[in-house]
Amino acid sequence: MALQKTVKNKLVFSGIGLHSGKTITMTIRPADAGTGIIFHRIDMNPAVSIEAEACNVVNTRLSTTIGKSNASVSTIEHLMAALYGCGVDNAHIDIDGPEVPIMDGSAAPFVAALNETGTKTLTKHRKYIVVTKPVTVADGDKKVTLFPSRYYRISFDMRFNHPVVSNQFKSMKFDEEKFAADFAPARTFGFLAEVETLKANGLARGGSLENAVVIGDDGILNEGGLRYEDEFVRHKILDSVGDFYLAGHRIIGHIKAFKSGHDLNHKLVTELLVRKDCWKLDECTGKQDHVAASLSIPELAFSEA
Ligand SMILES: [Zn+2]
Repeated sequence: MALQKTVKNKLVFSGIGLHSGKTITMTIRPADAGTGIIFHRIDMNPAVSIEAEACNVVNTRLSTTIGKSNASVSTIEHLMAALYGCGVDNAHIDIDGPEVPIMDGSAAPFVAALNETGTKTLTKHRKYIVVTKPVTVADGDKKVTLFPSRYYRISFDMRFNHPVVSNQFKSMKFDEEKFAADFAPARTFGFLAEVETLKANGLARGGSLENAVVIGDDGILNEGGLRYEDEFVRHKILDSVGDFYLAGHRIIGHIKAFKSGHDLNHKLVTELLVRKDCWKLDECTGKQDHVAASLSIPELAFSEA
């Protein structure tokens, strides 16, 4: 049986917000089974609590933002991916500003701290969204489909029209250790021309080479270069892990994304939650894939080639 988990102890992070440029302090606290992930804007009076669920998403431009009653928290996706990747189902997150600290632009600092603190196992079972029929959303040539599969897998196909970077494809069968080593350290990125436009519009004020990979006309501007040759597509998978966690439960299925981003990821989660004929919510006994196997769902619903 897979039991729910929370953080063992309190964790405090302090850092700047990518868009606001302000220093923000964030505390992750243990929560009871069934709580889910809840952000609390403790700088507001009274404090506003916002559940990290698709129904609370208010903006998907540049990052994923959740909000309620004039309060919002943006750039939640890297932290959500870290919580997912470290097995945390329930947590209270106190935050004193409108944005999760960007840290180094990846999920690695969150994953390292979560793994060091450790998790506490609770007494209730996890429930998984087991996909039984494909669900698709598209926007122009961008497309995301969630296929039935015995495992949680994300395959991402990203296209670049830039002389420095070419198209990238990667497929991740989710595994906590693999996620921590191969995906969590992949940083957010932007093109120099876009970064300048964002700054001129009052966005990305906290953005720097310390917290993002910046792609110039002739190459990567960061002194140390890339962390992986295909760091960009790894980051897109990391973003997707965070965005799809807003379904409220872990998914057993294969997400196949073509040129997707926060907006289309959110549309897929929303569509999935509406299409109740395409999945069942189930506690999994034994291995995580037990339910999918009992439903005769193949390991892979389509060829990877
Ligand atoms: Zn990101």
